[in-house]
Amino acid sequence: MSTTVPRARRVSPRSAVLPAHGRRHNLSLVLQMLYSVGAMSRADLARRLGMSKVTVSDLVSELMDSGHAVELGPSEVVRPGKPGTLVDVNRTGLQAIGVDLAEHEVLRAAVLDLDGNILVRAERAIADDSGQAVVDKVLDLVHEVIGAATAPLLGIGVGTPGIVGPGGVVDTAPNLGWTDVPLRDIVANATGLPVFVVNDADAAVHADYTLGEGGDDLVLVKIGRGVGGGLIVGGQRVRGAHFASGEIGHVTVGTDGGATCRCGKVGCLETWVSAPNLEKALEAAGADAPQEPLREAGERLGIALAPVVAALDLSEVVLSGPEHLLGGVLRDALDETLRARLLARTTTDLTVRLAHRPDDIVLRGAAVLVLWDQLGVA
Ligand SMILES: [Zn+2]
Repeated sequence: MSTTVPRARRVSPRSAVLPAHGRRHNLSLVLQMLYSVGAMSRADLARRLGMSKVTVSDLVSELMDSGHAVELGPSEVVRPGKPGTLVDVNRTGLQAIGVDLAEHEVLRAAVLDLDGNILVRAERAIADDSGQAVVDKVLDLVHEVIGAATAPLLGIGVGTPGIVGPGGVVDTAPNLGWTDVPLRDIVANATGLPVFVVNDADAAVHADYTLGEGGDDLVLVKIGRGVGGGLIVGGQRVRGAHFASGEIGHVTVGTDGGATCRCGKVGCLETWVSAPNLEKALEAAGADAPQEPLREAGERLGIALAPVVAALDLSEVVLSGPEHLLGGVLRDALDETLRARLLARTTTDLTVRLAHRPDDIVLRGAAVLVLWDQLGVA
């Protein structure tokens, strides 16, 4: 089990708020500070947040009453006077559920702790199921993991294929046979818990940003059966006019044709870089250039991503998917193509890397969504 510790630089106590939101905002600042930096005394909290000790003590009391914070014992920091008692986010006393509906033929769910560690897993095969049958299996799976939780649950995060509109409605997810499925309300009504639904690549970028090493300006491209992307710009997830930002899989790359895509167009990015298409191309590759499909996929990906990286002035491009396909030749070709196509001064600190633990990235990112909302953690 990993012990990922989120970083302190996420805390921004200076954000402006409306007076009516003041208390909730202040509660969230205390939680963010504890979550990011770790346990500390009320006096330290007050100092770091620029609040009075009385205010902080009052906020901490409320958070302890609600079960969000706990006292750990006396501080070991040696200072004149009485040692302060350490308080922390209730890391072991609260849990969240993550659900990943974007894997091939299987629905996955897990109970996670507040540091993103997976405590319990469950899954359901979906083989030929479609439409309502998949919804029923999602509910069945969610009920199973709720039953396996060993602490109060903050909520449920769901990463799903397809575009997710306002209110957690899945516009269209062909692989699940879904059109306009109000997934958030369905799961919330069945469980009574807060529910957050996002596209699977958006969940993945949340995991990389909050639990991984992602910085404030990054694009994550998730490569599996399809190709999707998630964007964090200035520390905020980009949603877009149609809730579809990052959806680059069906953008045509180049003017030289290519294979016909399942969407009907020719030469979509997905035809070059989806995992099944890459595996097929590798099988068909000649013995003299067995890695050529990987090099070409990296190059096409670079051609598609260069304008995105330039327009948003990003500093990281992260690939999430099968390492045997994405590491090595593909990553190197992507890196090279981006540097060849971008302004040199913007690429000196450009990082092109693979995401950690891609198999669990959607489960963990979906749970992060719950933390963002319920703890104000970013
Ligand atoms: Zn397409």
